Amino acid sequence: MAENLKSRLAPFIVTKGKNFKLKDHPTARENWKASKKETKKLLQKGTELLRDQQEKLYAQDQRGVLLIFQAMDAAGKDGAIKHVMSGINPQGCQVYSFKSPSPEELDHDFLWRTTKALPERGRIGIFNRSYYEEVLVVRVHPEYLQKQKLPPELVTKDIWKDRFEEINAFERYLARNGYVIRKFFLNVSKKEQKRRFLERLEQEEKNWKFSLADAKERGFWEKYMEAYEDMIQHTATPHAPWVVVPADDKPLARLIVAAAVVDAMQDMKLAFPKVSEAQKAELAAARKALESEKKEKK
Ligand code: ATP
Ligand code: MG
Repeated sequence: MAENLKSRLAPFIVTKGKNFKLKDHPTARENWKASKKETKKLLQKGTELLRDQQEKLYAQDQRGVLLIFQAMDAAGKDGAIKHVMSGINPQGCQVYSFKSPSPEELDHDFLWRTTKALPERGRIGIFNRSYYEEVLVVRVHPEYLQKQKLPPELVTKDIWKDRFEEINAFERYLARNGYVIRKFFLNVSKKEQKRRFLERLEQEEKNWKFSLADAKERGFWEKYMEAYEDMIQHTATPHAPWVVVPADDKPLARLIVAAAVVDAMQDMKLAFPKVSEAQKAELAAARKALESEKKEKK
């Protein structure tokens, strides 16, 4: 089962970025051979497996899991996150969304706000957007860089390469501290984004999701794709791989996300903590004490 899962996931997982090209990664179903019905069944199974793994992670309280979601608007980040969360114990999971930085956040280094939001040991932390915005939206709109109060001599043409290095060092640091990291790029096509935007405009109950700003960002599509490609080329590593998820098909995207999380957690070989002989004796004594209590009146 685990090996089968690994081989099915392989086309989507990028552990080495050197030759990564977005054009090799379809936005639709091509690399996943499963019918719609099977996809649905597998998704349910994935959610169950995830719940088991999470219980062990929480009980063991040693390792942590960080899941990062990046995507263009309307790619389905929120839905994918909702699905990963469905069925798992909310106490063991934290979701943070990172929007445009506040003045306080701009007063710090670029990893500050996300570092504060890292998951505790035993938990799954989900970042809806992350420090990767620093090499995406900030790269596409250099005027945002101006607001970051950096000393001008540090803002050179090497700034993106520097940031990739810093991110890689940071993720290596987390990995060496017992954290497992998976980064999801929900790869939606420009055509499908248009369809989803139109749906948001046409269906009243979806109107709230539409933002003029999102539609404006669409105008920078090519620049974003270049930034995503460069980002994946420079930050895909064996300990913090990118999962490039075909996102035109929502159920499939959710399945691949869930499967990649299950796979990562299975690799951690999580187990419930072993009870020592001394603890067993304590438990037996506690049981005896409870059983010898006088029967309480109802
Ligand atoms: P939704 O999908 O519900 O719209 P969202 O994640 O798109 O959620 P928004 O409130 O629309 O949330 O705003 C997020 C915006 O903040 C995005 O346009 C994103 O690019 C921007 N943003 C996030 N991090 C940074 C950053 N470090 N610098 C500048 N802009 C950022
Ligand atoms: Mg938005």
